[in-house]
Amino acid sequence: MKALVFERHGGPEVLRYAEVAEPEPGPAEVLVRVSACALNHLDLWVRAGLPGVPIPLPHIPGSDVAGVVARIGPGVTAVKPGQKVLLAPGVSCRKCPPCLAGLDNRCPQFTNLGYLIDGGCAEFVRCPEVNCFPYPENLSFEQAAAVPLVFQTAWHMLVTRAQIEAGEEVLVLGAGSGVGSAAIQIAKLFGCRVIGTGGSEAKLARARELGADECILHQKRGARTQGIKEEVRRLTGKRGVDIVFEHVGTATWEDSVASLARGGRLVTCGATTGYDAKVDLRFLFSRQLSVLGSYMGTKSEFATVVKLVAAGRLRPVVDRSFPLKEGEAAHRYLEAGDQFGKVVLLVA
Ligand SMILES: [Zn+2]
Repeated sequence: MKALVFERHGGPEVLRYAEVAEPEPGPAEVLVRVSACALNHLDLWVRAGLPGVPIPLPHIPGSDVAGVVARIGPGVTAVKPGQKVLLAPGVSCRKCPPCLAGLDNRCPQFTNLGYLIDGGCAEFVRCPEVNCFPYPENLSFEQAAAVPLVFQTAWHMLVTRAQIEAGEEVLVLGAGSGVGSAAIQIAKLFGCRVIGTGGSEAKLARARELGADECILHQKRGARTQGIKEEVRRLTGKRGVDIVFEHVGTATWEDSVASLARGGRLVTCGATTGYDAKVDLRFLFSRQLSVLGSYMGTKSEFATVVKLVAAGRLRPVVDRSFPLKEGEAAHRYLEAGDQFGKVVLLVA
């Protein structure tokens, strides 16, 4: 089969569109013919190499897969060949206490398709049958592939970790990112007032279309962002917001903490601009703040977001698609950070 593969870590130039062996589905596994696979920042990090993370080489990246079941392994009962599926990205042991409690993203062996195992940037991907979810028929393959990781992650952050409540005020950093565009929609589903931040007027206009009530233009990443905490203060009558949705890291952290109202929760799933951060403990205790870490999401949460997407209550946002063989160009495009929503690879 054809696949986007790399044999060593590095820049986008290490990606090759090459012929590789087709995987064989084992017991309780399926082989899915990939129609579309969306990219995530995770793909860029996996390709570049992460300290202390032994990614098996050669490696096929790609976590967000929409496609059709091609073949099934022994014992598979949940799906049949020919069935359209949307794949949950998370793969876990299914036997440990967190897995048995439904908290599969806390499994010690938890990984994603395309992270420590081969992913969907290929004509076929192998995955456990439990990762196959009913296909949202209102969406094209391109749109469906833009759903999994970002909506599952944003749902876990806002609903499970930050325990969002109706009518709260929510600051969404990086509203133009895939995860930011999902967060805006989820917060609006809960009837919240959403303040989005973005690096260009064009991105802020798109954020408003998705439901953001207020928008703050901040500097592009690299330098420290300006004006977020002052603007949040102004927009909330000096109160601050109940939830800050973080994934930017060093560049916005100080503003994010300072934007919280008393009792506010900061929830973070990433650190795109760096992981050095400082918290003034006096503010943490006297303002009764919570700082919450969040990592991916559970299959149960995935089922919920797929249901809401199928009902048209949440909408995937596709910025641009590339054919699979132009994966290198797609990585460069995502790395430049000018997109609004997801970048998708289409497999012919
Ligand atoms: Zn487990």
